[in-house]
Amino acid sequence: MDLYQNIFEQTPDALVVVDRAGIMTHANARAEFMLGYTRAEMIGQPIEMLIPERYLPQHAENRIRYTAQPQVRRMGMLATELVARCRDGSELAVDIMLSPLHAGKDLYILCAVRDVSSQRAAREELQRRTEELEQLHQQLKVLASRDSLTGLFNRRTFREQAEWLLRNAARRGEPVSLLMIDLDFFKRVNDQFGHVAGDRALASVASAMMQTCRQNDLACRYGGEEFAVLLPDTDEAGSLGVAENFRQAIQSIAGLPIALTASIGIVSYQPGQFIAADSDLFVDLINQADRALYAAKSQGRNCICHASSLAGTAGSTRQQVTV
Ligand code: GH3
Ligand code: MG
Ligand code: MG
Repeated sequence: MDLYQNIFEQTPDALVVVDRAGIMTHANARAEFMLGYTRAEMIGQPIEMLIPERYLPQHAENRIRYTAQPQVRRMGMLATELVARCRDGSELAVDIMLSPLHAGKDLYILCAVRDVSSQRAAREELQRRTEELEQLHQQLKVLASRDSLTGLFNRRTFREQAEWLLRNAARRGEPVSLLMIDLDFFKRVNDQFGHVAGDRALASVASAMMQTCRQNDLACRYGGEEFAVLLPDTDEAGSLGVAENFRQAIQSIAGLPIALTASIGIVSYQPGQFIAADSDLFVDLINQADRALYAAKSQGRNCICHASSLAGTAGSTRQQVTV
């Protein structure tokens, strides 16, 4: 075997030569190894025998176009993922370079076929892992934003989102209301039935609250047996109706060791409303709702109190706040 023939046989890529009509005329040892055919089986056969069936119509068209304008180039567009069909029917990820061979008047095409299956598999694995990591990241984000017992937003996320909603409401000139909901005599549940029953009761309350929430309401477990709900685009009159829905929903929860009730404090904010100069609007609203909540507690529990009914709250101070 002369050196040129040796080069043809031993080059690390599979080499296949086809004539103008697409009939294979040569194949090297690497092609035999890679594709599973002996060269006797390949030579004299159309190159299409190495192409998966679904690509055949496109391939025939491309081959004719290439033969009309042969040049050294990669087969297919740059992003095309090429595959070869092996003798056993399996498909092999490949990259193929084409080069015209002129022999007198005759034209042959040299196809250098490189096995890229391991690179492609590695890339796919990387893609799979990246997607997995992205999913995990999403799950972690959800976990970090939720209270694990009830699935409601935790206080930190509630504050972030509530502040955003407040800014948004100010821009649109829409009212916002805030409910603070505290379960009445909840300590008794723990004392009489244990903490596990208490935990279950809290989860039931959260689930009843989620069912009561309207689409844009933002509910959180503010702490212990206290919940906060921000009601976008809801004024005082609206907030009283929504609070009553929550009160009734909690009172009607079935399957608890003892029936639960809740006291609810409300504050409503109208953009442009005057509030204390140095106050943080969110904190100010929480404080006012808290005060209303404790008024509801002292009025006998299982009831609702709006901050506007208390002395020295909303609307009574001097300075306009921009949010
Ligand atoms: P009030 O009507 O004045 O609100 O009475 P209360 O008993 O609900 O209020 P208090 O603040 O005295 O007690 C709150 C109880 O809530 C005590 C605490 O053990 C219970 N609690 C807070 N967080 C959890 C929790 O995650 N799981 C359980 N099981 N209990 C909790
Ligand atoms: Mg409490
Ligand atoms: Mg309580």
